[in-house]
Amino acid sequence: MSGKVYLIGAGPGDPGLLTLRGKEILGRADVVVYDRLVSPAILGMCNPCAKMVDVGKMPQHHKVKQSEINKLLVQFAKENPSGTIARLKGGDPFVFGRGGEEALELVAAGVEFEVVPGVTSAISVPAYAGIPVSHRGIATSFHIITGHEKDVIASEQSERGNLSLDFEALARCPGTLIFLMGIANMEFIAKRLMECGKDPKTPLAFIEKGTTPYQRTVMATLMTAGETIVRENVTAPAITIMGGVVELGKTLAWKKNLPLSGKRLVVTRAAKQSSGITARLNALGAEVIETPMIETRPVDVKEWQDLANFDILAFTSTNGVESFFNQLFASGYDVRVLAGKKIASVGKITEKKLLEYGIRCDYVPEDHTGECLGKLLAKTSSESRILLLQGNLADDTLPKLLPNATRWVVYETLPVSELPEWKREAVASADAVVFASTSAVENFVKVMPQSTEGGAEPRISFCIGRMTETAARNHGFEAVTSDETTMDSLVKKIVEYYAP
Ligand code: SAH
Repeated sequence: MSGKVYLIGAGPGDPGLLTLRGKEILGRADVVVYDRLVSPAILGMCNPCAKMVDVGKMPQHHKVKQSEINKLLVQFAKENPSGTIARLKGGDPFVFGRGGEEALELVAAGVEFEVVPGVTSAISVPAYAGIPVSHRGIATSFHIITGHEKDVIASEQSERGNLSLDFEALARCPGTLIFLMGIANMEFIAKRLMECGKDPKTPLAFIEKGTTPYQRTVMATLMTAGETIVRENVTAPAITIMGGVVELGKTLAWKKNLPLSGKRLVVTRAAKQSSGITARLNALGAEVIETPMIETRPVDVKEWQDLANFDILAFTSTNGVESFFNQLFASGYDVRVLAGKKIASVGKITEKKLLEYGIRCDYVPEDHTGECLGKLLAKTSSESRILLLQGNLADDTLPKLLPNATRWVVYETLPVSELPEWKREAVASADAVVFASTSAVENFVKVMPQSTEGGAEPRISFCIGRMTETAARNHGFEAVTSDETTMDSLVKKIVEYYAP
């Protein structure tokens, strides 16, 4: 018996290009083994309880050897007999991703696996630069080629490099040529292609960090490829695309340079509250690292048999619903314990969450507030025995209006005490951090203590509220504060700061 390994393609960078299947598996994975090119936004979609293993490869020196990765996958599958092991790789796992080697090892070890294809950078990165890899009348085929084999850096000295490419065939080929991993060898590759007869005027584009907020396209020709890489400092990850289709990129480059393009921002609000601002900042071109400073945890309910003593169960948050049912199921019960009870919800969102568990609500107040719920329930029979299922920070509105009700705390909200390593790294490389409360500032400096080398972390903060601003300044942040205490106003300020 061993767990199942999923070889998942993460796509080229834009988290929106991860497949639905990939996302679903990451959400329930027990172990995630990931590569360097996988974006923090996608790592953020992984089951928060998953063991996160970074086998990322730095250019030139492999962090974890491929043979070790293969062994690790087998080992994790054996250690987690009914577990889900996600092997998350950039682009598509079978396009220069060594996914085949991993799969062979899994077969040899008798470990079940599944391949979840990804959007390969070879096609999507040109697309984000407005370059179609094929085009009627220009290119009737395209070829994806590795410009780098087995750590070989080709050079004049190493003659044809140890690159085993058939340059004569490639030079004759009229289709679009797409090189992955080829930047270090491109001068050599271009020279060989020209020697073999490819037109030196062939248009060529380097696309760096495609589909991410840092995407950059640099145009050249086969002739000027080498010097352009040096002059423009083209760096990995980048794709080189050659052929007539490259010209189309001049007309079709659709990805706008947005006001926040190339900025990495940390948002410290709780996930549920932050998705609005995250979407807005993303739309303005920023990369957002959601790093909530509080987290909710279920609180153990021991007295399930006491449920029999209540007629009405009232839920006031989706967290409450989730914690309640997760624990109910974990304790070996099921929804039959709710038979005959009336169910109340504070509002539509909580009501919808209850429906996911197959439970319809009997009471939902018009106004979606605790007060309205309290008044509504107070009107039910005075004999009704009411149970409030809430979090530790719930206020006394309901207990005051319903003095005979009982309250069970089913979840608690706590400050985050630690960030996973991948997130600390992502946060440390961010340009700025967004704070909406003094407690967020205080907790942030606790979980991101200043590095002794100094200054690796973001030193700019965007704050809501004067108190927050003061706290941020006290901790050495430069602070820019919104005029009003709204997210709209804050987003406006961020744009003004970066794109005045
Ligand atoms: N399996 C991956 C490719 C892995 S090889 C895929 O299907 O995309 C790694 C190479 O892919 C990099 O050296 C670079 O050439 C290319 N690459 C991956 N992501 C890229 C990106 N966002 N922008 C440009 N090139 C990228």
